[in-house]
Amino acid sequence: MSSLQDIASCISGYDPNALPVAQAREFIARLVPKVQAIESLAIRSALGRVLARDVVSAIDVPSHDNSAMDGFALRGTDLVDGAETLLFVAGTGFAGQQFNGVVDVGQCVRIMTGAVMPNGLDTVVPQEFTKTNPDGRVRIPAGVVRTGDNRRLRGEDLARGEPALVAGRILSPADLGLLASLGQAEVPVYRRLRVAFFSTGDELRSIGEPLDEGCVYDSNRYTLYGMLQRLGVELLDMGVVRDEPAALETAFNQAAASADAVITSGGVSVGEADHTKQIMAQLGEVLFWKIAMRPGRPMAIGRIGEPGHQAMLFGLPGNPVAVMVTFYAFVRDALLAMSGATPEPMPLLRAVSELPLRKKPGRTEYQRGIVSQAPDGRWHVRITGAQGSGILRSMSQANGMVVLHHEQGNVNAGDLVDVIPFNGLI
Ligand code: AMP
Ligand code: MG
Repeated sequence: MSSLQDIASCISGYDPNALPVAQAREFIARLVPKVQAIESLAIRSALGRVLARDVVSAIDVPSHDNSAMDGFALRGTDLVDGAETLLFVAGTGFAGQQFNGVVDVGQCVRIMTGAVMPNGLDTVVPQEFTKTNPDGRVRIPAGVVRTGDNRRLRGEDLARGEPALVAGRILSPADLGLLASLGQAEVPVYRRLRVAFFSTGDELRSIGEPLDEGCVYDSNRYTLYGMLQRLGVELLDMGVVRDEPAALETAFNQAAASADAVITSGGVSVGEADHTKQIMAQLGEVLFWKIAMRPGRPMAIGRIGEPGHQAMLFGLPGNPVAVMVTFYAFVRDALLAMSGATPEPMPLLRAVSELPLRKKPGRTEYQRGIVSQAPDGRWHVRITGAQGSGILRSMSQANGMVVLHHEQGNVNAGDLVDVIPFNGLI
């Protein structure tokens, strides 16, 4: 296991007091370990879980050439070029009940979708193109089919011996179906990641408590709960922890002993008078960063706990918007990587900014925006009013985050900007 110093030395231009977002992400990617334990689950229980081994198809899917249409199976060589083709019907093939008879030249077989192609036949003409003569012959007009049309080939979905799914995938509804099509009842997945989280700050009150003078309700545990729940990790909500060294120490120790990752909010900014940073530093190997971003400048990162049982620590800022932004910027991908997943980059939309945006080069800004489709089909984005990092309403109103990149400067109205849409974000 590399020390934090080792990792820092691999990051070009590492400066903990003005760390670009990209460098912070790279650092974290090098830092986080992946869960090792694997369990086998019934495929239905594996939805959203991370595949731990490649799944190699033991069979061809489909197992035979079969018809893609209801119609008549025939030999391409029987089709008459430039004129109508007339064929006698030798019999019928149903899905699950194939036609096993002999088909002579000049004959076809009535066939249903999914039925195995009779021996020697390679083409299907859909029923709606055909007419039947009084003598029972099927009439196929010129030019409606070519050899090979409407035939599904053996193994065209999954070929035997080929990887059907690659380890690191988060299993989707389509994947469950794919596994079922292979006849596979169970699938190996990584064990779920355990994540403990708590809020720090003496001004915080929990729901149900009276709101004393100068206090606020703890909202960060709820946004964190929501974001973590979507990631599919196991949650350990440890409540609000008071700003007392003993209480903090107990909470961090308990969290580190029972979870793979510990996420806290609050108490990591420079001016903090409280004990959170001090206890973090005392219980592990922790760095305190100032990230070149807005919102969300301060953040603590590292490992805490006893050697041999250490947990990753993500000490997020306290401001409610900063918590969400730093979660999406750093924690989401880190937790996915720890879960064994190959994180897919968050989808970006290019949208026309309806308003000019002030932006200083040298930091990444995440502004909350409302994306909509203009009549011309292009995506437009409008910033949701005040962007203060304490204004959680801006996050709730928004349906996406405008990402103004590190080097980027002011944006003019009408310029294209990158937006991370919330819809579909895990
Ligand atoms: P801090 O990072 O501890 O300096 O907190 C920054 C701001 O975020 C302060 O105004 C805190 O009151 C507020 N804050 C911290 N934690 C929470 C929380 N869990 N829920 C709501 N607001 C919070
Ligand atoms: Mg505080």
